[in-house]
Amino acid sequence: MMTVSSAATTPRLRFAPSPTGYLHVGGARTALFNWLYAKHFGGVFLLRIEDTDKARSTDESERAIFNGLEWLGLNWDEEVVHQGANLERHQRDAQALLDAGAAYRCFCTAAELDERRKEADSRKEAFKYDRRCDRLSADEVERRVAAGEPHVIRMRAPDTDVEWNDLVHDRIAFPGKDIDDFVILRSDGTPIYNLAVVSDDIAMRVTVVMRGDDHISNTPKQILIYRALGAELPTFAHLPMIHGLDGKKLSKRHGATAVGDYQHLGLIPGAMLNFLALLGWSPGGDREVMTMEEMIELFSVDGLQRKAAIFDPKKLEWMNGQHLSVISLEELEPRVTPAIIAAGLADVKTLEDRREWYRSLLDLLRVRARTIDDIVRQAIPYFADQIEYDADAVAKYWKDPSEARSILSATKDALAAGPWDSISLESALRTLADTRGVAAGKIFQPLRVALTGLTVSPGIFEMLMIMGRDLALHRLDTAIAKLA
Ligand code: GLU
Repeated sequence: MMTVSSAATTPRLRFAPSPTGYLHVGGARTALFNWLYAKHFGGVFLLRIEDTDKARSTDESERAIFNGLEWLGLNWDEEVVHQGANLERHQRDAQALLDAGAAYRCFCTAAELDERRKEADSRKEAFKYDRRCDRLSADEVERRVAAGEPHVIRMRAPDTDVEWNDLVHDRIAFPGKDIDDFVILRSDGTPIYNLAVVSDDIAMRVTVVMRGDDHISNTPKQILIYRALGAELPTFAHLPMIHGLDGKKLSKRHGATAVGDYQHLGLIPGAMLNFLALLGWSPGGDREVMTMEEMIELFSVDGLQRKAAIFDPKKLEWMNGQHLSVISLEELEPRVTPAIIAAGLADVKTLEDRREWYRSLLDLLRVRARTIDDIVRQAIPYFADQIEYDADAVAKYWKDPSEARSILSATKDALAAGPWDSISLESALRTLADTRGVAAGKIFQPLRVALTGLTVSPGIFEMLMIMGRDLALHRLDTAIAKLA
């Protein structure tokens, strides 16, 4: 018979951002990994806003976090927890640590500590709190507290090593001598990060703490707090840092680092998620392009990587192109339409009136696009009255204007002569090529430039069909006139 309650076995993970800036792609990556773990193992994903730093926390940045997570679809399963609302519990836990003899009050002032730090520096020694307040008598402590003397609370760090089995790094050990008697509660009664996090993670029954590598040095301190509070340890997982292509920590120097920036650039959230998932995790093999469902299915602890992940914007763009060509038209259309309208190519009514045509156009264009902007750029010839001719396209395919003009005139006549369906159009152009004794490309390429002004476009017959007889012939007339 099962004796373990299911609550005890349900993984509980959290994303715990500080609302002191925008949602960074690194934060989003951490959120995603926690989310994937929770979804893969049938667990719960929680969100905690670490707003204890009142001076730096803003509502605006909290909103940016919510928006970013919502855009990515990383929904949290329980009500959002605000760390700042838990002050009383943090203080109670500090008191419990004092009562358990795991912590002590320290009356040393900031100035005194500074002085001692300088002395240590001058002796070229690492500064470590010398525990002098831990040697005060109980009576003295009581007297000074009663007198209202300001003081902090420090954990009494043991001299033995602290170690844990990290999901990413396996065994990590910190020598006891390297762990200071660290402060957990400031003299104004507010908690230090390590206390607040552990107190909240215990209260939220978090079983897996997954966060960036930069927190590894906090973990031994947090483990000491867990133990002293008599709480069960969660499993820890420290994800690799994210670097730019130059191998340096990802920062604004490398370009956009806010999730919101990518949202506004018209990225597909599924592509962003897929790209972020590969920053520190691999599903194995050469597999790269995945839907969210596939990532949930494939997620595994074994696939988590130790080495720093590289943020390559070109790869993100490539990934976006991959997703653009596979998402449903239902998802694609509402993403492209606002951009088409903003570019002044059409209004809502036109698009609604020609819905079927519009959707086939999107389906045709998305194959060669990496971004929504690419689709909009390629859509211009199908809407605009006048097009611009790309200089390279002209130089390459209309090199000899009178020759190009003659080909385009013959092309126009051939196309206009028969019915407008792809089989007839193709046979008309191939016959023309045969008659002129040239390769089909010699007919197709100048035509492509006449129709779109571009060197790259969908297949010529698909394009003629979508463009329709009137517009295509009008484009040919314009080109012929231009070449005269
Ligand atoms: N607020 C911390 C941060 O933003 C949370 C770290 C943790 O997950 O414990 O890095």
